[in-house]
Amino acid sequence: MTSINQNYLELQGSYLFSEIAKRRTKFIQDNPNAEIISLGIGDVTRGLPDAVLHAMHSAVDELAAPGSFRGYGPEQGYDFLINAIIENDYKARGIDIATNEVFVSDGSKCDVGNIQEIFSENSIVAVQDPVYPVYVDTNVMAGRSGKYNQETKRYENIAYLECTAENDFKPSLPDRKVDIIYLCYPNNPTGMTLTKEELKVWVDYAKANNCIILYDSAYEAFIQEEDVPHSIYEIEGAREVAIEFRSFSKTAGFTGVRCAYTVVPRELKGLDATGNEVLINDLWNRRHTTKFNGVSYVTQRGAAAIYSPEGKAQIKSLVDYYMTNAAIIRDGLASLGLEVFGGVNAPYIWLKTPNGMDSWSFFDKLLTEANIVGTPGVGFGQSGQGYFRLTAFGSRENTEKAVERIRKLSL
Ligand code: PLP
Repeated sequence: MTSINQNYLELQGSYLFSEIAKRRTKFIQDNPNAEIISLGIGDVTRGLPDAVLHAMHSAVDELAAPGSFRGYGPEQGYDFLINAIIENDYKARGIDIATNEVFVSDGSKCDVGNIQEIFSENSIVAVQDPVYPVYVDTNVMAGRSGKYNQETKRYENIAYLECTAENDFKPSLPDRKVDIIYLCYPNNPTGMTLTKEELKVWVDYAKANNCIILYDSAYEAFIQEEDVPHSIYEIEGAREVAIEFRSFSKTAGFTGVRCAYTVVPRELKGLDATGNEVLINDLWNRRHTTKFNGVSYVTQRGAAAIYSPEGKAQIKSLVDYYMTNAAIIRDGLASLGLEVFGGVNAPYIWLKTPNGMDSWSFFDKLLTEANIVGTPGVGFGQSGQGYFRLTAFGSRENTEKAVERIRKLSL
């Protein structure tokens, strides 16, 4: 029989969401009349903005006629979308990005998952803890993680940067040599952000220590406060050390439609085996064009419509809707004396479980006593133990109802 990639055997089961589903199903079986509110999984619930829908409808019509039909497009994305991205997401903020530095894709999950394959299998990876699990698992698949330690519940060769209330969820610099640093801001799951000064510390560190920062900014659209950077390229020197990932998923309801992009500056370099410099942009271009055949024309037309005047206004009201939910959860829980974090520049509220409960006990309490499903913090890493994540992506009605139910609990 054919041998398999042994690294896959080091993966731990996707325990978090399967365990949530198991406990939820069991509860519903035992309590068929319970009206469950889910503030757990990070999917959006509102429809696509009108501007996006109109653009997609006309794009479909274009495909009907031989004269305007589109088949395979450029793997990196159509110019109309790349130019809109550059103008609006970067130039408008004083950042210069060239057209050959933007790679349109079908999602940031794929991009943050795939990017690691252009780096050496010996690279040491640093992740925040708690963390979006894709960063860890894709490096396990590639053989960079080392063994999983059942006691510490961590991989031996991964550097974990702890983010807890004690350090205001701002990770300390790694205490050993690392090559690749994943940073996610605004953060999933904690909902927290860094200021420009704090992000500069990471850019300076990466430059001084020859690291590459993989900056996942999937929740950029939710930033409300002035001093929070929208792009890592707002920081001087970041073009030499950082790759940035952005997604239309949460910004514009594209979780099912699928569209995102990655920026790989031409200044970013790595070394080949003989010590010669290689452009990371060239490698990613090669990888992207070899393994990916572009996002559909209809989808890219829909994404470009987000940057039209109507699109911008509709996106703003979508984001406002979710951020009002975030404020309702955040303020509601804080008024009960709970310690809450995030929810100001991100659609996630991260709370300290009351009375020192562990994350899963709090999950059970919320499920059985308030019929609310959230996400236990420990599922995102050991530093998430004793925390809990609620999302602002529900409907207004359910969000208000959920807070009222929590208000009635004895905490
Ligand atoms: N990055 C982070 C931090 C996320 O939380 C998510 C989705 O939940 C993604 C990336 C995936 O985004 P996409 O839908 O573009 O694949």
